[in-house]
Amino acid sequence: MRTILLAHVKRVVIKIGSGVISDKDGLELERIATLCEDVHTLRQRGYEVILVSSAAVAAGKADLGIVGKPHTIPLPLKQAAAAIGQSRLMRAYKDALRQHGLKAAQILLTRDDLANRRRYLNARNTLMTLLEYGIVPIINENDTVVIDEIRFGDNDNLSAMTTNLVEAQLLVILSDVDGLYSSDPRHNPDAKLISEVERITPEIEAMAGHEGTSLGTGGMTTKLKAAKRATLYGAGTAIINGRTPHNLLYLFDGHELGTYFLPARDPMAARKHWIAFTKKPKGKLILDDGAHKAVSERGKSLLPSGICQLDGSFERGDAVRLCDLNGDEFAKGVTNYNSTELDRIMGKKTKEIELILGYQYGDEVVHRDNMVINPNKE
Ligand code: GLU
Repeated sequence: MRTILLAHVKRVVIKIGSGVISDKDGLELERIATLCEDVHTLRQRGYEVILVSSAAVAAGKADLGIVGKPHTIPLPLKQAAAAIGQSRLMRAYKDALRQHGLKAAQILLTRDDLANRRRYLNARNTLMTLLEYGIVPIINENDTVVIDEIRFGDNDNLSAMTTNLVEAQLLVILSDVDGLYSSDPRHNPDAKLISEVERITPEIEAMAGHEGTSLGTGGMTTKLKAAKRATLYGAGTAIINGRTPHNLLYLFDGHELGTYFLPARDPMAARKHWIAFTKKPKGKLILDDGAHKAVSERGKSLLPSGICQLDGSFERGDAVRLCDLNGDEFAKGVTNYNSTELDRIMGKKTKEIELILGYQYGDEVVHRDNMVINPNKE
């Protein structure tokens, strides 16, 4: 039983592969309906659910007379197929979710959107708002506009980045295979399903060295890369067969199916490392004693009321030093507001942000999760 492993999960990203919800003729509406039924049950159990769904290309390609694997289709045709198929895909989810009184929202992303910190934070805020309102976000790559340089390339990668974006505790990759095998089960009858992976070692990576099926873009290799990324960010990752009806629920019921990758032991390490060492600070915030204590000793986020002075010119998404009244740095973090905005809201109550600026990006100037205490000692 895996119940213990999933006990801490509240927010989950579910990646649905093309091979799960489409066949050579296009979308398989019944499979989408069954999955949405499970999504509804998960929501009733109190989970927040974000879907990352492929199959736009699969849903649209027949209209262009295309047959064959997606990676053999030239990019312009693939993009045209996605333009046809994406609305079909959303329509299918919308209809299926409506049966359960649920609403869907479409979010199309490019890798560029997540590499740019401001757009990253905006995408995050939009997703959080949707979740707050009980809507089911359905994400796909914005296939029609991407060029090679800014492509995620496959939705496995996109789902791992989404897991980090929304800080989900679990990524479930629904595939048309049962999980990770010790070798390719299509060629080796002795291949064994690996039920649990504690760490993705080169030996584990070697097991995935075979191609995927004809409908999706990624094979086991891209799934493993996604698992590696997600587990590093602290989310457990399950790869299970999504074509078996209600497998998603069985996973949450605690049944041992597919392959489960345990989260890395020091999950925040990568992110903190990024903030502490990669981001160059562009400014300085001087905090009053109360805010200094709240942040450094009580694990709180920084609110505008605790800032008494600022230094430097910086943008939303830049790193700033947090200093005490003597000007000594005790933390570093990523700011939600730029220096012009902060100049107007520092020392003010959270409630006043919107009154003063006419908008707001959230209560926190620096959210706890985007902060490292004593960055030079980490
Ligand atoms: N974004 C592509 C689609 O919706 C799928 C990419 C993938 O298969 O990973 O068709």
